[in-house]
Amino acid sequence: MKTIIDTTMRLTEHFTLGEMCYSATAEAKQIPNVPLKQHITALRNLCERCLEPVRCQLGLPIKVNSGYRCPLLNQMVGGVSTSQHLKGEAADITIPRSHRPFGHPTDEQAARLILKYAEQFADFDQLILEHSATTWWIHISCRINYRLNRHQVIR
Ligand SMILES: [Zn+2]
Repeated sequence: MKTIIDTTMRLTEHFTLGEMCYSATAEAKQIPNVPLKQHITALRNLCERCLEPVRCQLGLPIKVNSGYRCPLLNQMVGGVSTSQHLKGEAADITIPRSHRPFGHPTDEQAARLILKYAEQFADFDQLILEHSATTWWIHISCRINYRLNRHQVIR
Protein backbone atom coordinates (compact mmCIF):
# COMPACT_ATOMS: atom_id res chain seq x y z
CA MET A 1 0.00 0.00 0.00
CA LYS A 2 1.38 3.37 -0.96
CA THR A 3 0.56 6.18 1.43
CA ILE A 4 0.25 9.72 0.18
CA ILE A 5 0.94 12.43 2.72
CA ASP A 6 0.09 16.09 2.44
CA THR A 7 3.47 17.79 2.89
CA THR A 8 1.85 21.24 3.04
CA MET A 9 -0.15 20.26 6.12
CA ARG A 10 0.60 22.65 8.98
CA LEU A 11 1.43 20.94 12.26
CA THR A 12 1.69 24.31 14.02
CA GLU A 13 1.71 27.88 12.70
CA HIS A 14 5.32 27.82 11.51
CA PHE A 15 5.99 24.13 10.80
CA THR A 16 4.67 21.90 8.02
CA LEU A 17 4.64 18.11 7.82
CA GLY A 18 6.86 18.42 4.73
CA GLU A 19 9.71 20.15 6.53
CA MET A 20 9.47 17.70 9.46
CA CYS A 21 9.97 14.80 7.00
CA TYR A 22 12.43 16.41 4.61
CA SER A 23 15.95 15.03 4.45
CA ALA A 24 18.67 15.92 1.97
CA THR A 25 19.95 12.33 2.28
CA ALA A 26 16.49 10.88 1.59
CA GLU A 27 16.23 13.14 -1.44
CA ALA A 28 19.69 12.22 -2.75
CA LYS A 29 19.18 8.48 -2.18
CA GLN A 30 15.53 8.57 -3.26
CA ILE A 31 14.31 7.05 0.00
CA PRO A 32 10.56 7.59 0.45
CA ASN A 33 10.61 8.94 3.99
CA VAL A 34 6.89 8.53 4.69
CA PRO A 35 5.59 8.81 8.27
CA LEU A 36 2.72 6.72 9.66
CA LYS A 37 -0.19 8.30 11.50
CA GLN A 38 1.42 7.84 14.93
CA HIS A 39 4.60 9.55 13.67
CA ILE A 40 2.59 12.55 12.50
CA THR A 41 0.96 12.77 15.93
CA ALA A 42 4.41 12.68 17.57
CA LEU A 43 5.75 15.34 15.16
CA ARG A 44 2.82 17.64 15.94
CA ASN A 45 3.48 17.18 19.64
CA LEU A 46 7.17 18.01 19.11
CA CYS A 47 6.25 21.16 17.16
CA GLU A 48 3.66 22.28 19.73
CA ARG A 49 5.78 21.70 22.83
CA CYS A 50 9.27 22.47 21.51
CA LEU A 51 9.80 23.98 18.07
CA GLU A 52 6.96 26.51 18.02
CA PRO A 53 7.67 28.00 21.49
CA VAL A 54 11.40 28.31 20.67
CA ARG A 55 10.64 29.84 17.28
CA CYS A 56 8.22 32.36 18.76
CA GLN A 57 10.36 33.41 21.74
CA LEU A 58 13.45 33.67 19.55
CA GLY A 59 11.53 35.56 16.87
CA LEU A 60 13.58 33.85 14.17
CA PRO A 61 12.89 31.00 11.75
CA ILE A 62 14.09 27.52 12.66
CA LYS A 63 15.54 25.24 10.01
CA VAL A 64 14.83 21.53 10.49
CA ASN A 65 17.76 19.53 9.11
CA SER A 66 16.19 16.21 10.06
CA GLY A 67 12.93 15.34 11.81
CA TYR A 68 11.14 12.04 11.19
CA ARG A 69 13.33 9.24 9.78
CA CYS A 70 12.04 5.94 8.42
CA PRO A 71 14.23 2.95 9.42
CA LEU A 72 16.12 2.91 6.10
CA LEU A 73 16.90 6.63 6.24
CA ASN A 74 17.96 6.38 9.89
CA GLN A 75 20.34 3.59 8.92
CA MET A 76 21.72 5.63 6.00
CA VAL A 77 22.55 8.61 8.22
CA GLY A 78 24.14 6.38 10.85
CA GLY A 79 21.42 6.92 13.46
CA VAL A 80 21.20 4.53 16.43
CA SER A 81 18.36 1.97 16.30
CA THR A 82 16.70 3.53 19.35
CA SER A 83 16.75 7.04 17.85
CA GLN A 84 13.73 9.18 18.69
CA HIS A 85 13.82 10.39 15.07
CA LEU A 86 12.32 6.98 14.17
CA LYS A 87 9.24 7.76 16.27
CA GLY A 88 8.83 11.34 15.06
CA GLU A 89 9.84 12.50 18.52
CA ALA A 90 13.04 14.36 17.58
CA ALA A 91 14.40 17.05 15.28
CA ASP A 92 17.87 18.41 14.49
CA ILE A 93 17.57 22.16 14.18
CA THR A 94 19.50 25.34 13.50
CA ILE A 95 18.85 28.99 12.60
CA PRO A 96 19.20 29.62 8.85
CA ARG A 97 22.42 31.52 8.05
CA SER A 98 20.45 34.36 6.47
CA HIS A 99 18.53 34.99 9.73
CA ARG A 100 21.21 34.75 12.39
CA PRO A 101 21.28 37.75 14.71
CA PHE A 102 24.26 40.08 14.89
CA GLY A 103 27.03 38.48 16.93
CA HIS A 104 25.87 34.92 16.23
CA PRO A 105 27.11 34.16 12.72
CA THR A 106 28.56 30.68 13.23
CA ASP A 107 26.79 27.31 13.37
CA GLU A 108 28.02 26.85 16.93
CA GLN A 109 26.73 30.25 18.07
CA ALA A 110 23.37 29.62 16.39
CA ALA A 111 23.11 26.22 18.10
CA ARG A 112 24.01 27.68 21.50
CA LEU A 113 21.42 30.42 21.09
CA ILE A 114 18.71 27.82 20.35
CA LEU A 115 19.91 25.80 23.35
CA LYS A 116 19.43 28.79 25.63
CA TYR A 117 15.86 29.43 24.44
CA ALA A 118 14.92 25.74 24.36
CA GLU A 119 16.09 25.22 27.95
CA GLN A 120 13.80 28.01 29.02
CA PHE A 121 10.74 27.67 26.80
CA ALA A 122 10.49 24.09 25.46
CA ASP A 123 8.99 21.02 27.13
CA PHE A 124 11.70 18.63 25.96
CA ASP A 125 12.80 15.10 26.73
CA GLN A 126 16.40 15.58 25.59
CA LEU A 127 18.21 18.68 24.41
CA ILE A 128 21.63 17.93 22.96
CA LEU A 129 24.27 20.26 21.53
CA GLU A 130 25.74 18.16 18.71
CA HIS A 131 28.42 18.71 16.12
CA SER A 132 30.30 17.05 13.29
CA ALA A 133 33.68 18.08 11.86
CA THR A 134 32.00 20.82 9.84
CA THR A 135 28.84 21.96 11.61
CA TRP A 136 26.86 22.29 14.86
CA TRP A 137 23.14 21.81 15.55
CA ILE A 138 20.63 21.13 18.33
CA HIS A 139 18.93 17.76 18.73
CA ILE A 140 15.64 18.28 20.54
CA SER A 141 13.08 15.62 21.42
CA CYS A 142 9.66 15.41 23.03
CA ARG A 143 8.03 12.13 24.01
CA ILE A 144 4.63 11.38 22.59
CA ASN A 145 3.68 10.91 26.23
CA TYR A 146 5.17 14.26 27.20
CA ARG A 147 4.52 13.67 30.90
CA LEU A 148 7.49 11.29 30.74
CA ASN A 149 9.86 13.97 29.39
CA ARG A 150 13.16 13.87 31.28
CA HIS A 151 14.22 17.49 30.60
CA GLN A 152 17.77 16.31 30.12
CA VAL A 153 20.35 18.77 28.72
CA ILE A 154 23.56 17.40 27.21
CA ARG A 155 26.25 19.87 26.14
ZN1 LIG B 1 18.93 14.20 16.21
